[in-house]
Amino acid sequence: MNPFSYTRATDVTNAVSEASRSAAAKFIAGGTNLIDLMKENVARPERLIDITHLPLKRIEDTDDGGLRLGALVTNAETAYNPQVEKRYPLLSRAILSGASPQLRNMATNGGNLLQRTRCIYFYDTATHCNKRMRGTGCSAIEGFNRMHAVLGASDQCIAVHPSDMCVALAALEAVVLVTGKNGDRSIPIADFHRLPGDTPDMDTNLGGDEIILSIDLPPKGFADHHAYVKVRDRASYAFALVSVAAALEMSGDIIKEARVALGGVAHKPWRNTEAEALLTGKAATKDNFQIVAETILHDAEGFEHNTFKIELSKRVIVRALNHAARMETRP
Ligand SMILES: Cc1cc2nc3c(=O)[nH]c(=O)nc-3n(C[C@H](O)[C@H](O)[C@H](O)COP(=O)(O)OP(=O)(O)OC[C@H]3O[C@@H](n4cnc5c(N)ncnc54)[C@H](O)[C@@H]3O)c2cc1C
Ligand code: SF4
Repeated sequence: MNPFSYTRATDVTNAVSEASRSAAAKFIAGGTNLIDLMKENVARPERLIDITHLPLKRIEDTDDGGLRLGALVTNAETAYNPQVEKRYPLLSRAILSGASPQLRNMATNGGNLLQRTRCIYFYDTATHCNKRMRGTGCSAIEGFNRMHAVLGASDQCIAVHPSDMCVALAALEAVVLVTGKNGDRSIPIADFHRLPGDTPDMDTNLGGDEIILSIDLPPKGFADHHAYVKVRDRASYAFALVSVAAALEMSGDIIKEARVALGGVAHKPWRNTEAEALLTGKAATKDNFQIVAETILHDAEGFEHNTFKIELSKRVIVRALNHAARMETRP
């Protein structure tokens, strides 16, 4: 047994002040990831700060024409919100492709961003893992690495970020609003998660005392041309081998803007804006999509069990872009 204290935060200021009291404090929201990590002895917080009663449960319009998603709105409420369905269907589809209905009813938006990798060695405390404890080694590099990264990995960690929601947020260029003892800040989603480098224990750039308040979606929702394609080992209730969020702005058959975010391939949702720009002003053809896919995967490196992900990623990118362009048979 690992003893811990439990506090229910009364307001956001109280939550931040409670978190500032110990480096081993953790907020708990839906608990769908943190409780599992505690049961497996992977997370050992000394203080649990229950934030479920904080007023962060609204979805509302922003002044610039976008939409603000409260950190404590559940994944289910977000996916089925009429404004999200109408203006940001890409996000709705990505969320609904993840987990199960029961989990989505508990899981919150803030918790989804901060869920930890599903690397089997990370959960197995009998093995070496630099993410669990920096400097101990990575069991996955020479181990069973079928689910692991092919882009942006380091010699310290080859884990992937497991979220579906975050892949759509990357394509939509969402902004995460947080607050902590040093005040409020806005973090573009591209800068929220980190690559592993020499510090694979740090998943994000969020401070230990900082709480996520909301996620802002910019006005552009790509409702007319989008697709979320997730390839996984079984049809439901499985994490992505590869997923792609594709969003296009089209003028007739010509692409004005393209965004392509990948999940399941890196330590964070993966984008390559230079590759995306290759589609600007081009026709929505399979050949043009293939060029972008080849460019995005150009520097990919596989390990013993996951090299297949490189070709798979290319095919999923082409398929997602094709679906986004035509908005025909749903993937
Ligand atoms: C069996 C299973 C299958 C799943 N399949 C998928 C899937 O296919 N796709 C997918 O995307 N996800 C999947 N999930 C993950 C699920 O989406 C996450 O567990 C969930 O989103 C986490 O949200 P939560 O509110 O329960 O977080 P919690 O477990 O409460 O917290 C997770 C982390 O976030 C921190 N935290 C929570 N809220 C805040 C906040 N507002 N500010 C600061 N820190 C905060 C906590 O301190 C903790 O570190 C699956 C989970 C399970 C158990
Ligand atoms: S890939 Fe990362 S999470 Fe998995 S064992 Fe290696 S260091 Fe740990």
